[in-house]
Amino acid sequence: MEIIVAKFGGTSLGNGERIKKAAESVVREYMKGKKVVVVVSAINKTTDNILKIVDDAIGKAITEKQLADIVTMGEKLSIRLFSSAIESLGVKSEYIDPSKDNWPIITDNNYLNAKVNFKETEKKSKELLKLLDQGIIPVVCGFLGRDDEGAVTTLGRGGSDVTAFLLGHCLKAEEVIIVTDVGGVMSTDPHKLQTAKKLDKISVEEMRDLATHGAQVLHPHALRYKDPDISAKIIGFESGDLSAAGTEIMGPAENQMLKTSALSPRPISVIAVVGEELLTKKGILSELIDTLTANDMNIYGISTGQNSITLFIDKDVADKAHEVLHEVVVRNDNLSSISLGMEIAMITATGQDFIDTPGIITKITEPLHKNKINIVEISSSQTSVVIFVDWADGTKAYELVRRVLK
Ligand code: ASP
Ligand code: MG
Repeated sequence: MEIIVAKFGGTSLGNGERIKKAAESVVREYMKGKKVVVVVSAINKTTDNILKIVDDAIGKAITEKQLADIVTMGEKLSIRLFSSAIESLGVKSEYIDPSKDNWPIITDNNYLNAKVNFKETEKKSKELLKLLDQGIIPVVCGFLGRDDEGAVTTLGRGGSDVTAFLLGHCLKAEEVIIVTDVGGVMSTDPHKLQTAKKLDKISVEEMRDLATHGAQVLHPHALRYKDPDISAKIIGFESGDLSAAGTEIMGPAENQMLKTSALSPRPISVIAVVGEELLTKKGILSELIDTLTANDMNIYGISTGQNSITLFIDKDVADKAHEVLHEVVVRNDNLSSISLGMEIAMITATGQDFIDTPGIITKITEPLHKNKINIVEISSSQTSVVIFVDWADGTKAYELVRRVLK
């Protein structure tokens, strides 16, 4: 039978009516023959309010362990309310909080920003299957964890999204549904631009980059646990229907737990276009790019400096690119000269965690430095770091990077 994990955010639990509506939506899926695991956040602004009270009452004297213990009250209240609401509709339910034997989420003891012990959690999650098999709907505290010693921990603000995807993964769920107050993922923050549109679908990779740009739809770590074969969607609460269409989250394309690296199979060439104070001149980048695009040439990377713009392109088209860009240089008064550079190897390192791993660039480049390999250029974006070295150093550099990522 199909397992679905439904996570209700704070606004969808904002008052009694909403909690009732949420419980009804869960029971409706249950009646269709689905096994539903419910994950809840704290009601509305409860977490913020608790933190404020603690700050006013105790201030800096509070320990992390105490604070975690207090802040969990929001979710503990939610599960009790939600579970009773389900039972009031005539279906058996059990609330699961960290004090129970069958609590699934096991973490380290970093109380306020705990790291999930994936192996243990995977094992403990199986306990929930027993409840599901008995026709019971488990209601689990989002955001919370438990360490080895039985102390309660939290996964960091917004962490109940992580709980939902983590449980979805461990229970091999068919679908993870995130119920929120916006109807799905928007093309931009609707509070900032009224022209924001809801997206029908978005990939895990895109979501990840969005999350770090402050679009607070989903906790950035949640998608770490998204399997390609588990469906996921973000839906608005208004419909009160869990089968509503919101924004579907597709992918990921490859196993995210892995950090990968790749070496360009063929050499890449560099073209440097030089001119005075280029950083302050308008339209130069577009002129260069338009010219390459018009000639059907792909650009692997661009880097800009005070007096130059460097473009990375296929070696096969380098001569032609050199020629057409030279015409631009001659035509444009802001540009003085152009050079076509060596054969370059491009090494791409990708990892989900790069985004919030301080020092990742140093970690990757350090061995190159130790081996006296010169880095011609480096660029990074969100979850990948791209390094350009001399073609002759390519294989060695690639090996070194690969070793770091292991
Ligand atoms: N209640 C927690 C918070 O406000 C966790 C969550 O809502 O995801 O951060
Ligand atoms: Mg949230």
